[in-house]
Amino acid sequence: MRIGFGYDIHRLVRGRPLVLGGVTIPSDLGLEGHSDADVVLHALMDALLGAAALGDIGRHFPNTEPQWKGVASTVLLSKVSQLLKERDYRVINADITLVLESPKVMRHTDEMRSLIAGILEAPADAISVKATTSEGLGFVGAREGAAAYAVALIE
Ligand code: MG
Repeated sequence: MRIGFGYDIHRLVRGRPLVLGGVTIPSDLGLEGHSDADVVLHALMDALLGAAALGDIGRHFPNTEPQWKGVASTVLLSKVSQLLKERDYRVINADITLVLESPKVMRHTDEMRSLIAGILEAPADAISVKATTSEGLGFVGAREGAAAYAVALIE
């Protein structure tokens, strides 16, 4: 058994879709980044790569490479899943916490869980997605950005 941890942060801006856990959520602000800036999946991928000591997403999908521009993070997660599979790892479980002031994403978290589980070929109950606000404090509270933390266990 191996454990990994991941963290990611992206800026919230106007004119971008808000994609979290592979799900597009109606919002006046979206996350800015080279890819779709899905903080939930980015934190998860770093946790998975970390568990396997395979570096991080910056190493596998550099934001200097045009091929990853605007790419859906679900595509990147599939690639991470493949990297683990090639090394005979399987995902036992993962737990992700999103920190976002608004909009409320609670009614979308089950959709995120089943989407992630599908990509990782893990049971739906092996994937947990939680969301919290920052109580109006700091950059998250000011809606300047969103952050996500993830842990993953692989075997
Ligand atoms: Mg990122």
